[in-house]
Amino acid sequence: MAVSPSQPDTAAIVVAAGRGERFGAPKQFLVAGGARLVDRAVETAAATCDEVVVVLPPDRAWDGPAVARAVPGGDTRAASVRAGLAAIDPHAEIVVVHDAARPLATPELFELVIDTVRAGADGAVPATPVTDTIKRVDGDRVVETVDRAGLIAVQTPQAFRASALRAAHEHGSEATDDAALVEANGGAVVVVAGDPRNLKVTTVADLPIVEALLAEVEATS
Ligand code: C5P
Repeated sequence: MAVSPSQPDTAAIVVAAGRGERFGAPKQFLVAGGARLVDRAVETAAATCDEVVVVLPPDRAWDGPAVARAVPGGDTRAASVRAGLAAIDPHAEIVVVHDAARPLATPELFELVIDTVRAGADGAVPATPVTDTIKRVDGDRVVETVDRAGLIAVQTPQAFRASALRAAHEHGSEATDDAALVEANGGAVVVVAGDPRNLKVTTVADLPIVEALLAEVEATS
């Protein structure tokens, strides 16, 4: 669709307002391979979307690459996405939500999810197969071994028709990703091939792995 420069077609929300409770610090502001995780996420979003809004911890000012707006987040990831949704240009047709803690998402992955929504889906999410055996537990007691056939691990960036994402967030529901809210609202969410390198930094053990992957990417580009 042809759009004027003042009417973005695609808007990205980079959520960076987490407190990093499992990590011990807001991990998205750590440096890996010479750049902060959040800056890498914002730069890739800016390379593929018409505008980027970054959602920050309320006590932080934005000091990274140029963005359209920086806004304070909420107590949960979903609340932070809602803060981003309120700040993006209302004319954007497609909204991409991306975790600041995933510095290895490629422009190609952003383009793939955006194109899948353009082709008609309400939402598009990258996913990889589950390779570990998955068990349901009650404390330390195994209750059940889950059949992993048909299970996938879902990443960001996730792209949505803006109207579907706004409707899904309208009632302030909580979920660990946006696709869950769009699915629950009756939206058609499509899976695309995720990237096994697109790790989310969650614990301290993830950082050296991400550093090594970034070095490999830089060596081959
Ligand atoms: O906690 P989790 O790893 O699922 O966080 C995923 C992303 O959501 C991170 O980039 C984190 O900064 C962001 N987040 C947020 N606001 C919160 C919680 C998480 O923006 N309240």
